[in-house]
Amino acid sequence: MDKKSEKFLYQYLNNASPTGFESSGQQIWLDYIKSYVNKYFTDTYGTAVGVINPDAKYKVVIEAHADEISWFVNYITKEGYIYVIRNGGSDHIIAPSKRVNIHTDKGIVKGVFGWPAIHVRDKDSEKAPALDNIFIDVGCHSKKEVEQLGVHVGCVITFEDELTTLNKRYLVGRALDNRIGGFMIAEVARRLKEKKKKLPFGLYVVNSVQEEIGLRGAQMIAQKINPDLAIITDVCHDTQSPMYNKIKSGDQKSGDGPVLTYGPAVQNNVLKFIIEVAKKNKIPFQRQAVSRSTGTDTDSFAYSNEGVASALISLPLKYMHTTVETVHFADIENVIKLIFETVLSVKPGQNFKYLNKAT
Ligand SMILES: [Zn+2]
Repeated sequence: MDKKSEKFLYQYLNNASPTGFESSGQQIWLDYIKSYVNKYFTDTYGTAVGVINPDAKYKVVIEAHADEISWFVNYITKEGYIYVIRNGGSDHIIAPSKRVNIHTDKGIVKGVFGWPAIHVRDKDSEKAPALDNIFIDVGCHSKKEVEQLGVHVGCVITFEDELTTLNKRYLVGRALDNRIGGFMIAEVARRLKEKKKKLPFGLYVVNSVQEEIGLRGAQMIAQKINPDLAIITDVCHDTQSPMYNKIKSGDQKSGDGPVLTYGPAVQNNVLKFIIEVAKKNKIPFQRQAVSRSTGTDTDSFAYSNEGVASALISLPLKYMHTTVETVHFADIENVIKLIFETVLSVKPGQNFKYLNKAT
């Protein structure tokens, strides 16, 4: 990773991009990617798209999601404590003792998730953190004081944790799910430009909003672009650390390469094509299976329009939806490589249909 990529990575990931409020992150992403594409556009809800060869008929999408999980201010007590609801799958278990940023029109207001001291808790009946008992303290003594800071019901809240590294091997931070995907697809666009690769089709580099609350941004943009092929990237679970269950969640390991998913939404001919590309270019990969849907934007693209040939290339990640989401640098590079080489291998007009003779 060169200096320019690294600067973008830290700027983009340390910025907050809560679901439904992604604009500042999207702006950072567009500012980075715009010199690597021919044009770019955004939709009403903020999904950002960089396009190479916008006039081409055959369209290929590479996609990640731009949003991160957060909380909403839901209720402010008369004593000035704040109760929250989820915006996406935020984890109540990790909340107590975390520092937070409350996003207001007056700027960031600092807060902390408080918790009663161990000394005063009854050992036999102590409560676990739950959505209805975790609360934020912003240092105020009344609801009025809280409001004077600019905090109101509906403000979004993110944990303040930023990027760090472990053993020069792992990148650790809040919301690597899935803004690391936005980073990786931007790097694909950059490499295409810097290596002067000419594509014989339109490439749409898509950073979708609102994945964390039901794959919504991808639904909207899939309809608008109506691509012939969609390669989605998201994170999946590394299952190596304590208390994970490989029997239930599969055997995915950080550092062993991108994870390719089998499931009905994944178009098998696209998947086989990606596997051939990986083998040809000696890019390591792992396999996982999903029941029913992938739970990623792959589903949104696959089931859009009249069905879009779609596949999923995942980055294994430890401790999903915590503030210490952890990914291996080698996997980041290999996901970028695999998407890059796959894009370069696609032929314009390439048909992935299962039954080609029956028209
Ligand atoms: Zn997520």
